[in-house]
Amino acid sequence: MRIEVIVLHYSEIALKLGHRAMFVARLVDNVRLAVAGLGTARVHHTSGRVIVELGDSDPAAVLQRLAVVPGIANCLPSRRVAANLEALDAAVDEALEEWSPKGSFAVSVRRADKSFAGSSPDIGARVGARIVARTGARVDLKNPDCTVHVLVVFGEILLGFDRVGGCGGLPVSTAGRLLLLLSGGIDSPVAGLRMQRRGARIEALHFHSVPYLSAASQDKARQLAGVIARGQQNVRLWMVPFGDAQAQIVAAVPRPLRVVLYRRMMMRIASRIGYKCGAGALVTGESLGQVASQTLSNMTLIERAATMSVLRPLVGMDKLEISRYADREGCYEISILPDQDCCTLFVPRHPATAAEEERVLEAEALLDVTAIVKACRESASVETIEAVWPAVGAQRVALV
Ligand code: ATP
Ligand code: MG
Repeated sequence: MRIEVIVLHYSEIALKLGHRAMFVARLVDNVRLAVAGLGTARVHHTSGRVIVELGDSDPAAVLQRLAVVPGIANCLPSRRVAANLEALDAAVDEALEEWSPKGSFAVSVRRADKSFAGSSPDIGARVGARIVARTGARVDLKNPDCTVHVLVVFGEILLGFDRVGGCGGLPVSTAGRLLLLLSGGIDSPVAGLRMQRRGARIEALHFHSVPYLSAASQDKARQLAGVIARGQQNVRLWMVPFGDAQAQIVAAVPRPLRVVLYRRMMMRIASRIGYKCGAGALVTGESLGQVASQTLSNMTLIERAATMSVLRPLVGMDKLEISRYADREGCYEISILPDQDCCTLFVPRHPATAAEEERVLEAEALLDVTAIVKACRESASVETIEAVWPAVGAQRVALV
């Protein structure tokens, strides 16, 4: 079907009474960046919506990008119609040559331009009657299977079908910057995506154990960063060699305490890098009770080593929910690739589930913590990972 514009609705931004203009301006900028290079003509804001004029672009490719731009509640592919009822009739007829309601339907009319002749119910009834006459479809205003949207803006009417869900939330960079501790596992990329959708720009940090282990975990972290980058074009990914630090911990610390010590060391190093990159907090994929290091007491002990706030967006989610989210976002299939994460190096079979703080501090006193942190920080490198997209059409879309 001929599509000329995509109308973007936002939901949560509309509630930001005092700062709405700032949020909207950021969303418009982010949408421009998201569709850059696809051949779209113009992105602008009118009557509480963001309008993407498609120009020469492929609508499916544009929709794929928009589906993961935080702040967008839904996307409505639409055609432009002259601002009069006869033109609307003709446009509905033309659209019905290629489109018909699947099941029952309703017509939703929004008149941003109140000077337009005719009330919303009258316009809705007129369009609805036309669709019934041409297709025989049933009208259901309460629970329709699909909705035809008529938006009267200044100077034209936008007529849209098959609205697609966006990812909601708030525009990236309205909530500052966060440093995500990104392993190759299932949880941490999801944690990053969730915070990105709350308006944070994500940087990522991956601890690896090359040369003790293969570089597979680094490749996974890069691929996962490529998914997270879809919502913000690119992600800066810090790579920190952690094998030497682990080897020193192994040499000095009793087995059951090692995991907590690894994690505390990670928190210290991540806090330093977080300050360096201007992050306001760290993010982890921890979920209460999931593994030994994620009991309440161990999480508390681990957090105490951080000098920045630690956000854990998944703390109350169970593994199944997290895995479904990962699957929907396209990171699950990357996360389950085999690798040798640094967490598998030198890990005791029975880590303490409730390490005692006193024992942990005693063990740490055997190490030159400052030197270890400094060495890791100095050997860290950073790379910029661009968004990686699946083939257009391969991504699942949800009609809303
Ligand atoms: P994930 O699936 O995210 O790896 P997990 O359930 O395997 O999580 P842990 O291995 O205990 O749990 O890790 C807890 C959190 O610590 C991870 O979610 C991640 O934020 C961070 N983390 C673990 N390993 C690494 C790593 N190699 N590099 C960076 N962060 C890590
Ligand atoms: Mg892990």
